Amino acid sequence: MDELRKDPTRGQWSLIRPKRASSAESGCPYCPGAEQLAGREIAAYRKDGSLPNEPGWTVRVVPEADAYFRIEHELVREGVGMFDMITPRGASELILESPNHDDTLATMDPEQLESVLWMYRDRLVDLKRDGQIRDILIARHHRKPGVRPHHPYSRVTAIPIVFDETRRELRELKPVQIEEAPDVASLRRRLRLSQGAFATLFGIPLATVKDWEQGRRTPDAPARAYLRVIAQNPRAVRNALKTAAE
Ligand SMILES: [Zn+2]
Repeated sequence: MDELRKDPTRGQWSLIRPKRASSAESGCPYCPGAEQLAGREIAAYRKDGSLPNEPGWTVRVVPEADAYFRIEHELVREGVGMFDMITPRGASELILESPNHDDTLATMDPEQLESVLWMYRDRLVDLKRDGQIRDILIARHHRKPGVRPHHPYSRVTAIPIVFDETRRELRELKPVQIEEAPDVASLRRRLRLSQGAFATLFGIPLATVKDWEQGRRTPDAPARAYLRVIAQNPRAVRNALKTAAE
């Protein structure tokens, strides 16, 4: 049986899977018309009037054949010898991105791609309701040159642990402080300057001042700091710039 084992020497989780005979491939199980082969539909976007598990879908989600992680497994956590072991309870799903076998990201039209991304969201929302699922990964493999074309799909893997690498990244994340965008227009008005005069006086391109005021762009961190200094002591900034120009 498949299982997750923690390697005590490196402290990392590994997937353990006994070798098994691979079944010969015949025909694409993911093309329209072969719905029964691909397995019971988990979710799908369909044209009006088409039935589940039949053609007429635009994006379809099916369980991965020979899945490593399965929702039917009972979640068991135990120590086996020197290993921590967990049963691979989770989910492995394939999001079939298009009914067309030969579609790639390059040939798919934008609406199709948008539907695929909505399906990513739908699956994440649905799987997150399961309290025993700790992490969800979505992966997409590019077709390598020379490899037999396969139906375009993304793989969703929902797992009962958080991989060490992810845990490390989460631990190292720093809280982000969201600063409100400074109100450039009111600062400028307070100084009784036109956009042009403000731009010239403080050495900021006029187009940038306009973009800031109309909300097309927001000042980046150095610009925000500069604007704060201008707001607190406009005279000092002007003097400093004048001295620099002399
Ligand atoms: Zn196909």
